[in-house]
Amino acid sequence: MFKTLKVDHIGIAVKDLEQAKKFYTEVLGMTAMGEEVVEQQKVKVCFIPCGDSEVELLESTSPDGPIAKFIEKNGEGIQHMALRVDNIEAALADLKAKGVRLIDEKPRYGAGGASIAFVHPKATGGILLELSERK
Ligand code: ZN
Repeated sequence: MFKTLKVDHIGIAVKDLEQAKKFYTEVLGMTAMGEEVVEQQKVKVCFIPCGDSEVELLESTSPDGPIAKFIEKNGEGIQHMALRVDNIEAALADLKAKGVRLIDEKPRYGAGGASIAFVHPKATGGILLELSERK
């Protein structure tokens, strides 16, 4: 069994990470963490903690990356919601057994060293859902 613990973060697709970051830091007074490039997902990421959750800003590093494609189709904005689980392997096995449509059947590397996996929007009522486990 697994437990869903909290909203871990909201992922926001942006064209310009530096520009987007300014709104959260200069206007809202939040403190941004360092940036990280996740090559596998062709994305540059910056987390901005807010209480028990975080805002994740995502800028594509390639015109054919998933974030670039998202922005092309939808414009900038919320791209996914991430829920923290205590055991991602157990969560994926359980969802699979329940017939839930998964994008990732196995966890992969996520920014900050998390283990992540995506659940298909068709299974969640329309949102791209990321499951995230952090040690
Ligand atoms: Zn995320």
